[in-house]
Amino acid sequence: MNSPIWISYFPLVSTILGLVLGSFYNVCIHRYLGRISIVRPGSHCPKCGHALSWWENIPLLSYVFLRGACRECREAISLRYPLVEGTSGLWALLLALKFGPGWEWLVYLVFGGVLIIISFIDLDSFVLPDIYTIPGALCAFLCAGLLLPLGWRASLIGGLAGGGGFWLIQKGYKLLKGIQGLGSGDIKLMFLLGALLGWQALPIMVFLSAISGLAVSVFYLLQKDNQGLQTAVPFGPFLSLGGMIYILCGREIWSWYLG
Ligand SMILES: [Zn+2]
Repeated sequence: MNSPIWISYFPLVSTILGLVLGSFYNVCIHRYLGRISIVRPGSHCPKCGHALSWWENIPLLSYVFLRGACRECREAISLRYPLVEGTSGLWALLLALKFGPGWEWLVYLVFGGVLIIISFIDLDSFVLPDIYTIPGALCAFLCAGLLLPLGWRASLIGGLAGGGGFWLIQKGYKLLKGIQGLGSGDIKLMFLLGALLGWQALPIMVFLSAISGLAVSVFYLLQKDNQGLQTAVPFGPFLSLGGMIYILCGREIWSWYLG
């Protein structure tokens, strides 16, 4: 079906596709955060209106060429743009190396995109938008049943256990402390991740999320103006990161853990 030559270029093709998709994710994030309908955001500088030529619109590279600022007015370009593009490109490369061309590569590429978009929205606005998480959870269930080796049962149990578990934690925390520790967006995201990865993934995935969340919290604590514990930390990016690490090396972590 696939020629061997094409296969050997697949990681490169996948990376370029990931970078281009990253530009599109930036548009999605920008649209959500701006809450305004822009026909082609990113095609001109938001400050001076300078229209971008094609070479000012290349994922990642343009940011480097332009040294992070508009060519006309030197207005700084948000670091979010190259970060989203770089993350998306790296994700596509790692998936191509791990899975090769096939359904797993495609499904995880798309869901990685959703996770990247909602993570950067969460970082900026502390909101995990329903418009991504709810359809995403339903699609995750369909993909797991139809396209992935996971199957319906593990996916359904995973979604219910992930979302239900976080719902219980939220209720318990509210009973004990009287405040909301987890947003309802986190519950829907856990439904999505549980349905996509299966119930078997949940312990390791949550553990990976907690570790990365803790690492960032420690980083904040070590800052000079110490506000680490008071600052609310959005949980969505860490859950997403945990899920993505699990996709790449969950089985390896399990077999290492079980010896
Ligand atoms: Zn400008």
